Amino acid sequence: MTHLIDRLRGIVGAAHVLTREQGTDLSAWEQDWRKRAHGRALAVVRPGSTDEVAAVVKVCAAAGHSIVPQGGNTGLVVGSVPDDSGTQVLLSLTRLNRVRDIDRANLTMTVEAGCVLQAVQEAADRAGLLFPLSLAAEGSCTIGGNLATNAGGTQVLRYGNARELCLGLEVVTAQGEVWHGLSGLRKDNTGYDLRDLLIGSEGTLGIITAATLKLHPRPACQLTAWAAVPSLDAAVALLGLAQGRLAAGLTGFEAMGQFALSLVDRHMPQLRVPLWQQTPFCVLLENSDSESEAHARGQFEQLLESAMENGLVTDAVVAENLQQARQLWHIRESIPLAQAEEGLNIKHDISIPVSRIPVFCEQTDTLLQREIPGVRLVNFGHLGDGNLHYNVQAPEGGDPATFLREQEERVNTLVFDQVQRHGGSISAEHGVGSLKAAKLPHYKDPVALALMQQIKQALDPRGTLNPGRVLPP
Ligand code: FAD
Ligand code: ZN
Repeated sequence: MTHLIDRLRGIVGAAHVLTREQGTDLSAWEQDWRKRAHGRALAVVRPGSTDEVAAVVKVCAAAGHSIVPQGGNTGLVVGSVPDDSGTQVLLSLTRLNRVRDIDRANLTMTVEAGCVLQAVQEAADRAGLLFPLSLAAEGSCTIGGNLATNAGGTQVLRYGNARELCLGLEVVTAQGEVWHGLSGLRKDNTGYDLRDLLIGSEGTLGIITAATLKLHPRPACQLTAWAAVPSLDAAVALLGLAQGRLAAGLTGFEAMGQFALSLVDRHMPQLRVPLWQQTPFCVLLENSDSESEAHARGQFEQLLESAMENGLVTDAVVAENLQQARQLWHIRESIPLAQAEEGLNIKHDISIPVSRIPVFCEQTDTLLQREIPGVRLVNFGHLGDGNLHYNVQAPEGGDPATFLREQEERVNTLVFDQVQRHGGSISAEHGVGSLKAAKLPHYKDPVALALMQQIKQALDPRGTLNPGRVLPP
């Protein structure tokens, strides 16, 4: 053991190998964001270059120690923290944080895996361009973690998720080899697409050390509107209308249920949530316009007028300026925090074909109420992508910890069975991690699951990389 630690120190420098024995508190790396798991690492290793990552993987693999890659540790499915064996090496990528290159004409940038998402957005912005991946954890999650989980967020509707924003990767394999796949090509048909295989593999097939990302022209203006809708059916119809009228300008379409907004109102009254009291759902729309603010405003006004005439919207506000737009987005992004204030809850990040969302919610709400009378549904999410955070909170006054302990399995089974019935996915954003690994045999197509197992076996036969994640052990 000390032999391995010495070798790791030799590779990355003594200052970048942290151990409990040397008196360092490792909780920040060992505990997951939601505090659902607290593991025990043999050591936290912080390499500063791709070559160092490769050397670390080689010595760990040779010594038979598995590796858990970690970026910002904001993942929500317990995928980035060690198990409690005390034998796993926690590989933190945060020192790999350089922007290597921006190619304006090719609309690409190459960044290292440990770059914080917000820093990547800012670097693109300074170059007069847009990197559109955007999520509430952007101040601390890393681009490596975003790609490893194929993160989504609030602009997927227009720009796609992390996979669609990545053109090339640099990856350290389970054998400690480096795959130099940093391509800025939009077209390359020379065989199997390893990039797409690695994206979304949650650290189980390779360690991402850098990526070439796709950039977009910055819109001339972004306008935000908040609309009260009488039902989810109306919200889906409004989405269709907005897509027709705004076309590629529609960059965000979020739905928020009344109970979700009531939690923001209760725990963060200073945010002054608009229009939520008299309506079952509110919708947040974003229009990114390449012409001008006047053009965007005109389009929004026409859209909302038609929607009101058709009974799809009962009331609406359009942000007057950037500050108001930010406030509206802030309300949407505060829902998870308000929910946490209310107490632990059962989180889901499901997707369903948009057309089936109203019937899915109606049926599943009813089934849950029948099973657990008084249960509260915190329903909100990226309706434009068919992706809901259909979260389940204890009945008013109930103890959240007891609720989670006693009802989580039952609630998950009920919700996931419904998702399957409606042709959906049990994870649209957060991934599988450890939390959902045991669910895959039940909800994933058996042939697909067998192929996934064969791929893991081919790429990482010794099980060095993040064992027990994605695939059940
Ligand atoms: P980590 O949590 O460190 O790791 C996540 C997984 O990726 C782990 O399995 C880890 O082993 C692996 N990994 C990390 N880095 C690498 C690497 N370089 N190479 C290989 N594997 C690696 N997700 C969404 O999709 N959409 C959202 O809107 C969204 N909102 C969020 C809001 C909040 C407040 C929070 C806390 C999380 C949210 N998430 C969301 C979850 C999302 O998965 C993460 O925020 C983010 O994508 C993970 O990045 P990270 O650097 O923190 O990765
Ligand atoms: Zn989300």
